[in-house]
Amino acid sequence: MARRIIVVGANAAGVEAASAARKKDRTAEITLLSQEKNAGYSRCGLPFVIGGQIPSFKDLTVYSPAYFQMLKLNLKPETKATAINTKEKAVTAVDKAGTTETLQYDSLVIATGADAFMPPIKGREKQGILSLRTLEDGEKLLEAVQNGAKSAVIMGAGLIGLETGVALIERGLKVTVVEMLPQILPQMLDADMAKMVQEHLQEKGMCVLTEKAVEEFLGDDKVTAIMAGGEKIEANLFLSAFGVRANTKLAVEAGIPLGESRGIKTNGRMETDVKDVYAVGDCAEAPNIITHKVACAQLGTIAVRQGKVAGTNAGGGDALFSGILASAVTRLFETEAGVTGLTEAAAQRAGIEVVTGAISSKTKADYYPNALPIKVKLVVEKESQRIIGAQIVGGEGVTQRINALSFAIQKGMTVRELAKADTAYAPPLNEAWEPMVLAAEMVLMKLR
Ligand SMILES: Cc1cc2nc3c(=O)[nH]c(=O)nc-3n(C[C@H](O)[C@H](O)[C@H](O)COP(=O)(O)OP(=O)(O)OC[C@H]3O[C@@H](n4cnc5c(N)ncnc54)[C@H](O)[C@@H]3O)c2cc1C
Repeated sequence: MARRIIVVGANAAGVEAASAARKKDRTAEITLLSQEKNAGYSRCGLPFVIGGQIPSFKDLTVYSPAYFQMLKLNLKPETKATAINTKEKAVTAVDKAGTTETLQYDSLVIATGADAFMPPIKGREKQGILSLRTLEDGEKLLEAVQNGAKSAVIMGAGLIGLETGVALIERGLKVTVVEMLPQILPQMLDADMAKMVQEHLQEKGMCVLTEKAVEEFLGDDKVTAIMAGGEKIEANLFLSAFGVRANTKLAVEAGIPLGESRGIKTNGRMETDVKDVYAVGDCAEAPNIITHKVACAQLGTIAVRQGKVAGTNAGGGDALFSGILASAVTRLFETEAGVTGLTEAAAQRAGIEVVTGAISSKTKADYYPNALPIKVKLVVEKESQRIIGAQIVGGEGVTQRINALSFAIQKGMTVRELAKADTAYAPPLNEAWEPMVLAAEMVLMKLR
């Protein structure tokens, strides 16, 4: 009898898991359940449709219906999994028409993702507070812009809030970003690096208010203003970008344990504590490569890697997930920012004694036209001299340097080894002294 694999959730992690399972097992019956109308699209591209760089939300489709047909993946859109019975190995699902069916599995992959989070703020039941998670959310946001919104308040200065803020400014809106913490991008950058990004955003016309917690939504039925840090801020559009929370309801109700970070607990094979049930992507937790502490990374890159591991295993193969470094990049107007591994603040929270070094340089030879500024900061464990984190802010060339430093961290490279790295140079492409190498030398000077 053919192996039956059910995947709940058909986005980054779910589709990757189903595809990997198909590669391992050509005859398996693979079913994907998606409560959304659209499956296999890129959430990461949503801010760029809003900003106008990508013409249509339809362009965000990564996996077309033809893809599912070609791999013989039985995709059931607008079908919600409502219960898992791990003893009977069955999933109950309800489709758009209200028809309930029960599907048997040999292996189950939970890839239910995350939902936008709204803290318990007074007035949050009022209408008009938008979020950006699904394609429909994106359509609503763009519709509000097209209906003449002139100003927006974005609550939360994380990646999604800032990318959307930039998009709205590009559409001509006046944008105010309100952040509770003293800095923007608090998960991604240390305060010194975040300051550079904040200055750039302010130069481009974004009003950034830090250390202001949202206290209340004002307005009759519909929000017309917020109170934040004692200040009333009026706008036509309100975006909640407070962060996301793992969508674990289905797993919890089925008795599948969560871990310390409140994500679904998994092992290196992305198996949960229940036999033949895997969890992947934004709903699942996994250990950080450096601290070994578990976390839900909630990044597309991690979701697809975990999906591949679980799918391979569910299809009869043998794969291991190596852990999370949480490498991430973004581009905000003309500034790129990236991180890999631990920030200095995260290392301190983890009780690791570090030495840091930062260098400001250029992305081309100093004399070459249009050389752009770039700053590299390295975080090095004092005792072992191993690189455990890096942040880069600059006009170009951030992503591939972040990737190179991610490889260095994963291979356990010391700062001394990085300082001797053989790097490439040509005036239109780089400085003779690669900025990452100069940052390593800064750390070595402090270590001496
Ligand atoms: C605006 C935005 C920008 C982003 N930018 C980046 C970026 O630049 N780089 C990056 O790495 N990451 C980025 N991310 C994060 C990335 O999109 C997520 O990490 C990724 O989508 C996680 O994939 P997933 O499959 O785990 O979860 P999801 O994409 O959330 O998919 C889970 C799916 O499961 C469905 N589902 C849930 N419960 C059920 C159920 N009971 N039955 C059926 N279906 C169910 C959900 O409706 C959803 O369709 C961004 C996210 C957003 C919102």
